[in-house]
Amino acid sequence: MRRTWGGLWVAAVAMAMALGAVAGGGARAAAAGPDGAGPVRGIYLGAGECTDELLDALRDVGLNTLFVTNNTYDLAPLRPVVERAKARGLRVYWAMFFHGGPEIERGFADNPRRFVRQDGTVTQRTTCPLDEVYWEKAAGERALMLAQWAATEPTIAGIAYDIEMYGGASDYDWDQFCVCDRCWAAFREGRSGVPAASALPAAERWPWLTRAGRTEEYEAFQRAGVRRITADIARRVHAIAPNMGFAILPYGTIFADDVPAGFGTAKLPCPAMREDTYSAGYRMDVEADQARLDREGAHVRILIGLWAHKRPPEQWPLHAYLSATRVGGYWLYEEFPFSRVFLRDTGEPLRFTLQGSPAEWRSAFTLANQEIDRRLADPDYRPALMPTRLRRTDCAMDLSVMPLVAPTLAKPDPVAWADDGFPWTGEYARVELRGPGEQVTFALPHRYGGPHQVCVLLAGGPASPIVQVRLDGKAVGPPLDTYSPRLTPALFEAKADLELDATPHRVTLEAVGKNPASTGYVIRAESALLYYLGPFCPEYYVIGPFPNPEHRGFLEAYPPERELKLSASYPGVDGKPVSWRRMEATGGFLDLEKLLTPNEWTVAYALTYYYSPRARPARLLLGSDDGAKVWLNGQLVWSEMERRGNDADRDRVEVQLQRGWNQILVKVEQGEGGWGLRLRMTDVGPKADSRWRAGP
Ligand SMILES: [Zn+2]
Repeated sequence: MRRTWGGLWVAAVAMAMALGAVAGGGARAAAAGPDGAGPVRGIYLGAGECTDELLDALRDVGLNTLFVTNNTYDLAPLRPVVERAKARGLRVYWAMFFHGGPEIERGFADNPRRFVRQDGTVTQRTTCPLDEVYWEKAAGERALMLAQWAATEPTIAGIAYDIEMYGGASDYDWDQFCVCDRCWAAFREGRSGVPAASALPAAERWPWLTRAGRTEEYEAFQRAGVRRITADIARRVHAIAPNMGFAILPYGTIFADDVPAGFGTAKLPCPAMREDTYSAGYRMDVEADQARLDREGAHVRILIGLWAHKRPPEQWPLHAYLSATRVGGYWLYEEFPFSRVFLRDTGEPLRFTLQGSPAEWRSAFTLANQEIDRRLADPDYRPALMPTRLRRTDCAMDLSVMPLVAPTLAKPDPVAWADDGFPWTGEYARVELRGPGEQVTFALPHRYGGPHQVCVLLAGGPASPIVQVRLDGKAVGPPLDTYSPRLTPALFEAKADLELDATPHRVTLEAVGKNPASTGYVIRAESALLYYLGPFCPEYYVIGPFPNPEHRGFLEAYPPERELKLSASYPGVDGKPVSWRRMEATGGFLDLEKLLTPNEWTVAYALTYYYSPRARPARLLLGSDDGAKVWLNGQLVWSEMERRGNDADRDRVEVQLQRGWNQILVKVEQGEGGWGLRLRMTDVGPKADSRWRAGP
């Protein structure tokens, strides 16, 4: 859920912040360094992970900021980290999360001011957002403690709060405003017509505001209160340590605009760390949010959260680059130690599948940060990561761009597409042709075949021609007139459904004429998108439900992981026997919520087979609700424990098929709500000779 500030910042002085300046300085001071100027290339990790060896690797790949978790009130765990970081020119934020931890106990001990939801219910483990005592216990005391140290230690960048502080235990109450007695009394002050708290029970306050048309006024009041409290903490900290900043995560919650706006100053803008980018990476709607924050005069810089294992390493550099050159930077997140990502595979089982080797991860982020540095040093630099270094013939249009501009290879759902804020990169291959009949060719190193929706995006302008787009010689739609009186974003779209061979592809753009108003033959190519349209697995053998309390069933190996015997029966939830049954995936979707009971906090296994006439690489496309593990021919190839909805093709797993039938076993876990699975394969080979069947 997103909300906007409305007119709250009308009175604020609009302050244009130099792009890329997060912790002081401007664009010209952008190079990374211990002074912290320039975009954040951060990493979120535990104090215990910060060994000399890992910090060496992080410095070597060009990261500059550590967000080090420490949920205590003790600075001791940070001391060795700061020493090591200092020796390597890295900066450190003390990061902590609020999730019903000690700060709740401390806050409640003195001042049990509980959050009252809009329906009048009182939460037990969440404090009122305007509870200054709690803010002081949870946030202020720690910031002031750190400030004493930061005053003489420039390695300390600041303090980073995970503001799930309004989400004690599993209540995420910060999706609402608080209508407790004290909030209500404060709202009444200086306002006419508002009944006293004593005259209006808590459950009737929000309905009253709704009837009176005053909910926005109430929201504005709460938000201003949160900003006042956080700004007060920042003021006191800066009196001690003028260079100590604040950061918050996650960005995107109800007070997520207000908390960083309170903490941020013109000198030290507050990084707001997004988590809704973990899988998708950089998205253009983030840029729109940043522009809005800038317009509203908030000293906030958005950082893009990248959850390392969610993509193979080669897909991250462009996301990192866009994040650092267009918003405040990026930060890496992972649930297992980063030594596994950047140093060595220890062979211990992971809950998640990490694609790529440590060497590949190091080289991906080295590339990303080198490109960022080059761009910061030279605004005209055209990065190698973008499809912009194109010459007239046979230029490379890197398909690694594709996942960036299209978060999924699925056929886009028009609504989801719009909601996601289609991520135009805004950078084009500009090619000036001499006249009609001349063409430019781009190579697409996409090696998968089968039915695809092909979409090539072109920008228009006053000197743009009529363009015929072709893929491997086949027309991608009719000719497009890309003339426009002004330069446009890549709004011109050539689109067609084509059967592709499993070979590298070529996109050809030919000028076939021009609008009489157009002054030339300048083609601006933005990107090519290939959406796979192949069939989903139509049926499975399914066994379940097995218990999954608090995700523990996801981690536990139930009998189907040890033996695949379709005649077997095992104890499932509550000891009731479960056995394998053949089930249809209607329209490609295996609806486990409908097919199995009970269907909350459970797991099930789905078995299917895929035929390949020869050994060959393929890409398995998985959408599951919630998380899933996948075994191909008995080998675990994917593991993703996550609460999520079913988006087709959300996980892309590079696999190696063997000749003949390949066994695919999927374990799908369920929390609450929907539960199901979609699976298909982008095969390298002609479509006709591959097929699915449920049983062995
Ligand atoms: Zn309250």
